[in-house]
Amino acid sequence: MSRVYNFAAGPAVLPEEVLQEAADEMLDYRGCGLGVMEMSHRSSEFAQIIGDAKQDLIDLMGIPEEYEVLFVQGGASQQFAAVPMNLMQNKVADYIVTGQWAKKAFSEAKIFGEANKIASSEDKTFSYIPDCSDLPVSENADYVYICENNTIYGTKYPQLPNTKGKILVADQSSMFLSEPCDVTKYGLIFAGAQKNIGPAGVVVVIIRKDLIREDVLPFTPTMLKYKTQADNDSLYNTPPAYGIYICGKVFKWLKKMGGLEAMKERNEKKAKLLYDFLDASQMFQGTVEKGSRSIMNVPFVTGDDDLNAKFIKEATAAGLVQLKGHRTVGGMRASIYNAMPYEGVEALVKFMEEFEAANK
Ligand SMILES: *Cc1c(COP(=O)(O)O)cnc(C)c1O
Repeated sequence: MSRVYNFAAGPAVLPEEVLQEAADEMLDYRGCGLGVMEMSHRSSEFAQIIGDAKQDLIDLMGIPEEYEVLFVQGGASQQFAAVPMNLMQNKVADYIVTGQWAKKAFSEAKIFGEANKIASSEDKTFSYIPDCSDLPVSENADYVYICENNTIYGTKYPQLPNTKGKILVADQSSMFLSEPCDVTKYGLIFAGAQKNIGPAGVVVVIIRKDLIREDVLPFTPTMLKYKTQADNDSLYNTPPAYGIYICGKVFKWLKKMGGLEAMKERNEKKAKLLYDFLDASQMFQGTVEKGSRSIMNVPFVTGDDDLNAKFIKEATAAGLVQLKGHRTVGGMRASIYNAMPYEGVEALVKFMEEFEAANK
């Protein structure tokens, strides 16, 4: 077996121990004589799997009693509709548009009511997070929406926006569990699993219990009501059972690694190594303003398309894969999620140094 360093933005690298453990249990889960993929979601074994996953997540994030944790399907993109359908009581919501994912969420919200773009960083290809200390928050806004870490552009909110008392909703897909998070600052957090916590097909929703309502917008499908999911402990229908099982293993791995403080330290150390190199390099430049840099997704360019292509090709051959940047930014992007070891970033930086020296 020969594993590469996988810098993909998502689906992305998972901890090797988690994969190994899942492989060991694939044919026979702990003496059941069958695997988790073949198991009833109503079995006592699965009740334990989903119960543990939920509890471990609560422990990791310190999620208070006033919040509910849901495991749902449909990808993060489905939450772009579920959020307004469940929360737009006044049919007004404010969106801060800092990239493609926030833009998509904003467009989706317009289907359901008045969505206002109260700030944007599109003027500079989303390369920064706008000042959100005093925005024109709508008086009757049901919530203020952000995408907290912008996977494509490599930006992250240095601090949360001043929502002037309105509920904050955050898409944390590409930063979920990368650092400690004060859940009490949010009304709702959601995250698609395939960036930082597991396989595609699971979305975690953390919602303040008083926001779980019966009186959602008309025509909200049963499956998209948070109340349905909450009343049924995420088991209204067949959940993405195998995905939840893997997420659960990742949560246990995170606990073993020392929790979110330790992950933050580890992630900052990895990101610093790469950013310090980019800041010193004559050939490679980061594309994001310094105060807005993500520690999860790091886009960079050489300023020469042919050189970018050569770099990506040679890096791939050297076992550093999925470094091609998003088409709207060009160049390269290294996603260095929780499961990317420090050694992976070291190998990348070493390769970049050598590439720069050889292509002066
Ligand atoms: C990947 C991503 C999405 C979309 O996720 P899907 O599960 O494919 O719908 C949404 N938001 C962010 C921040 C992402 O990184």
